[in-house]
Amino acid sequence: MAIRVPSRLLFIDGEWREPVLKKRIPIINPASEETIGYIPAATAEDVEIAVGAARRALTRNKGNEWASASGAVRAKYLRAIAAKITERKSELAKFEALDCGKPLEEAAWDMDDVAGCFEYYADLAEGLDAKQKAPVSLPMESFKSYVLKEPIGVVALITPWNYPLLMATWKVAPALAAGCSAILKPSELASVTCLELAEVCREVGLPPGVLNILTGLGPEAGAPLASHPQVDKIAFTGSSATGSKIMTAAAQLVKPVSLELGGKSPIVVFEDVDLDKAAEWTIFGCFWTNGQICSATSRLIVHESIAAQFHEKLVQWSRNIKISDPLEEGCRLGPVVSGGQYEKILKFISTAKSEGATILCGGDRPEHLKKGFFLEPTIITDVTTSMQIWREEVFGPVLCVKTFGSEEEAIELANDTPYGLGAAVLSNDLERCERLTKAFQAGIVWINCSQPCFCQAPWGGNKRSGFGRELGEWGLDNYLSVKQVTQYISNEPW
Ligand code: NAD
Repeated sequence: MAIRVPSRLLFIDGEWREPVLKKRIPIINPASEETIGYIPAATAEDVEIAVGAARRALTRNKGNEWASASGAVRAKYLRAIAAKITERKSELAKFEALDCGKPLEEAAWDMDDVAGCFEYYADLAEGLDAKQKAPVSLPMESFKSYVLKEPIGVVALITPWNYPLLMATWKVAPALAAGCSAILKPSELASVTCLELAEVCREVGLPPGVLNILTGLGPEAGAPLASHPQVDKIAFTGSSATGSKIMTAAAQLVKPVSLELGGKSPIVVFEDVDLDKAAEWTIFGCFWTNGQICSATSRLIVHESIAAQFHEKLVQWSRNIKISDPLEEGCRLGPVVSGGQYEKILKFISTAKSEGATILCGGDRPEHLKKGFFLEPTIITDVTTSMQIWREEVFGPVLCVKTFGSEEEAIELANDTPYGLGAAVLSNDLERCERLTKAFQAGIVWINCSQPCFCQAPWGGNKRSGFGRELGEWGLDNYLSVKQVTQYISNEPW
């Protein structure tokens, strides 16, 4: 019998509620293709109720704890959530492994990051108290001025499936730290741990309506949320195509929006590197989480003098990656998230072949796995800059490779993309790394590594990868509104 995950209801106003239209969506384990539970499918009717609850949570009246809570009080809730996540770490990691195919060990690291992110924003929430009424110096003595930082209001948080609970946390933690109320709409492909976050919030006694969690399909639940007039801000992470729709909805009501979108990030490898270390970072940078990372460095740009040797190393590394059921010990690559995604990736590979590229390794289902959405790590050479595989985000375990001769050529290739999320350079010449750092058109640059991410540092992209920054203090600013207060203090008539 299939292992099952908890089937829960929508979380609105501090309670579990059946969706108004009573619709639900099956949860498919991508390793076995079996149905292991159901999530409720919210529609516009549920959005209406959830937005009302979130609005009430911000109404300043007697007995409404959240609306008047200090940063220190909000921090207590955030720390309590972090503690519960840590307590339930193994169970939550298992749910993510079953829900989206993430190797169990990786999912457990993600849960540490989730708890760490709640802790971090608890500290920033406390810090906000001291920053209130920050004075502004004016050129006239008859006036004094200061700034109040206030919660922006009711926020809609729409998230993807690749790091289900972590992507939600990058938004929920700063939104609550700022004092907002929120409606979270996780991806229909991986909602299980976000619904568990609802249970955690219930257990720690977060006041009703502060965090509402609506699972469901994008057009049915996400779209009415994004276009709801009572939502004050939308924070979105997902594909550039959906990001564009969200921006259109926000524009109709002149609503602030922050967008963390797709990528096609380069990794530039110079001839002076240690080949083994460089191969390890290249493999990690593209195949970690099965390449289903917005910032995956999926375009390798390698110096022509080391290309042949480097390719050999990469193939060796790829063949040593353990591909298995994500619950199996030592698993490094689980299945990709869904059948739809699996077919999409295979199509990318076959198009690359038909356009004249060479599949250096991978490209298919591993022989030992007959069921599930498993793919071998795939490396593609003989790529031209006009090929689809070079230009479009695959969001799967596929690395495409080009060689370069000069530094200028490497920079040109690196920036030859409509996206601008991450970029990596591997070289022992740190001055050269500095030059590339400045030349990269990207929001995040890694030097002699790829993908490490810390909740203290800003995260986000340029170009079609979106705008606005999450994490760090920048992440908190997303949910704060700045109010100027100016007072006339002179006894003289104006
Ligand atoms: P997606 O755009 O298909 O879905 C993202 C979310 O939007 C889901 O919750 C979905 O239900 C919802 N949605 C879909 N249509 C909608 C609509 N019309 N209105 C409102 N909401 C709607 O993306 P995905 O497949 O879940 O995630 C993969 C994408 O996310 C990739 O492109 C990846 O690069 C990107 N991503 C970016 C970052 C980043 O930090 N920049 C991080 C993770 C993922």
